[in-house]
Amino acid sequence: MSKKQNIITIDGPSGVGKSTVSRRVAKKMGYTYLDTGAMYRAVGFYLDRIGVDIHNFDALSLSLAGLRLELLPAVTEISDVGVIINGEDVSDIIRNPEAAMVASRVSAIPVIREKLTEMQRFLGSRGGVVAEGRDIGTVVFPGARHKFFLDADPRERARRRVIQMRERGVEVDEEEILAITLERDKNDRERDIAPLRQAENAVKIDSTNITLEEVVIRILQKVSEGEAGQPCLSP
Ligand code: C5P
Repeated sequence: MSKKQNIITIDGPSGVGKSTVSRRVAKKMGYTYLDTGAMYRAVGFYLDRIGVDIHNFDALSLSLAGLRLELLPAVTEISDVGVIINGEDVSDIIRNPEAAMVASRVSAIPVIREKLTEMQRFLGSRGGVVAEGRDIGTVVFPGARHKFFLDADPRERARRRVIQMRERGVEVDEEEILAITLERDKNDRERDIAPLRQAENAVKIDSTNITLEEVVIRILQKVSEGEAGQPCLSP
């Protein structure tokens, strides 16, 4: 198996459990976890803070040229990856619902996607990576050996998001989270460039009625079947 193919992609809408599942799969496989959503959140936060007009191509390109983005491995199994922008730790601030909406808006801008896609390909170039996001199996690593698409009922996704936020000590309203989740999904699915969709050769897993641990087990099973010389995973 070539190193280039040695990548597991996990795409799906927001709140479906991609981060938890990807982290656990990466740990079991001894792979690196790549959280591409954190990259869009970080860029959105940075551009919002410096107040650049994201529809002004020249100003935006100049701002992006001045951006240094670093990702650090998560400190614990349940914590998120660390994100540093131009030396400043923004790991926590980019995790709130507002930062997610900003990320969703900037993620539709071609020059931003180009820059982050290039970074993601570089980070995955040595293989041994579990990468999660919206366009990983379709655009970023179309040649990945193992592709998964997670889905779940929106209300269940909102419920899980609320639990996750509460665990972090952030009190949020479930109806509000549901509305934000639906709006983000709509933006992500309907944008012209790299929209959220299932790759043709991705395995779809609906986690509405199963635990995330069961999702992890299914993924590991599929991966091991593939690595044992079975045909490439089919839908
Ligand atoms: O996954 P997460 O919720 O952190 O992603 C934040 C936003 O970043 C998403 O709503 C989506 O708009 C954008 N995103 C993207 N492509 C990716 C990962 C995230 O457009 N590969």
